[in-house]
Amino acid sequence: MLQIERAKGIYLYGPDDKPYIDFVSGFAVSNIGHCHPKVVQAIKDQVDRYMHLAVYGEYVQSPQVLYATKLVSIFPDSINSVYFVNSGAEATEGALKLAKRYTGRSKIISCNNAYHGSTHGALSVMGNEYFKEAYRPLLPDVHFIEFNKTEDLQLIDEDTACIIMETIQGEAGVRVPDVAYMQALRKRCDETGTLLILDEIQTGFGRTGKLFAFEHFGIVPDILLLAKALGGGMPIGAFCANRNVMSVLAENPILGHITTFGGHPVCCAAGLASLEALLEEDMLNGIDEKEALLISLLVHPAIKEVRGKGLMLCIQLETFKQVEDISKLCIENGVIIDWFLHCETALRIAPPLIITHDEIKKACKIIISVLNNYQIQTNKAI
Ligand code: PLP
Repeated sequence: MLQIERAKGIYLYGPDDKPYIDFVSGFAVSNIGHCHPKVVQAIKDQVDRYMHLAVYGEYVQSPQVLYATKLVSIFPDSINSVYFVNSGAEATEGALKLAKRYTGRSKIISCNNAYHGSTHGALSVMGNEYFKEAYRPLLPDVHFIEFNKTEDLQLIDEDTACIIMETIQGEAGVRVPDVAYMQALRKRCDETGTLLILDEIQTGFGRTGKLFAFEHFGIVPDILLLAKALGGGMPIGAFCANRNVMSVLAENPILGHITTFGGHPVCCAAGLASLEALLEEDMLNGIDEKEALLISLLVHPAIKEVRGKGLMLCIQLETFKQVEDISKLCIENGVIIDWFLHCETALRIAPPLIITHDEIKKACKIIISVLNNYQIQTNKAI
């Protein structure tokens, strides 16, 4: 297995200092590249000031306030409250609890092939029985619909606390819904008083060419889930909502979501520096062109389709064996790619947003030559 000694920008380096192009970004974490100097400096500065002080909530900790304020400034007006936690799965847990508390309802809807994390609540809303069956019983009153199927939205009713959905499904193999579907989803939630939770843990912070993927669809969620790129490489998650909604966690009972390390000051400082770098260095600019370049270069008889949005793409092959072999060979040849939890016939393409056109060309050349050699070696058309 590949051993990594250091990382910088879009490159990971092995023990012999061999560079590998990171075409996965640590699963959509390293959007601004690895070890950005502003993030590294922010971490060092915060470590010198303080690390853990108390369970989240006893004191006001400056890095949390600064980061939450910055986040709210880039959110739509209705999302003006941020609850920091430790991870994506914990953000899912917090959001499900918040929706039940706010609506007084228990019914939860999720999508087939959804992935929202691996803790018990998050597992309950995972749309793949294979990963769940060994851990039953899970949360009751969870129902599943087909992603991007408008008829299924009728399952959302006056008993539904929330529907949780990835704005663009990631682990399902990058599935982009229709604009009309997302608007119908928003409308059905409004009609029934159901909270719409959009999981932007993988799609957030520029990955799809906009700061948040919901901007592609002209809708705003009631609860927004963030993690991964939120920390600029450090572990942190958040569920975000309107203050009116969020405030129910403060009473009856108080301390609605307790988390010792949630919103760790060093992670908040790193996250803030990362977001500032993303905005100041205009990293969202040119994502569409990079997407188009990737699609134009990833052409091969073995590639059935390249789909996705921005720099959240996948290469559709035919078999898991191909996916396993090709990703292994790509890594050997200096490009790190991977696959998906719920779609074992596709390869994940999610480089840091800072990747240049030349670097994209270099990586694609390696992928195509691996596909050519694989075809020759297996001596059959793939
Ligand atoms: N939601 C989505 C869409 C994810 O892709 C992931 C992780 O891959 C999670 C939630 C869970 O995040 P974490 O691994 O930080 O718990």
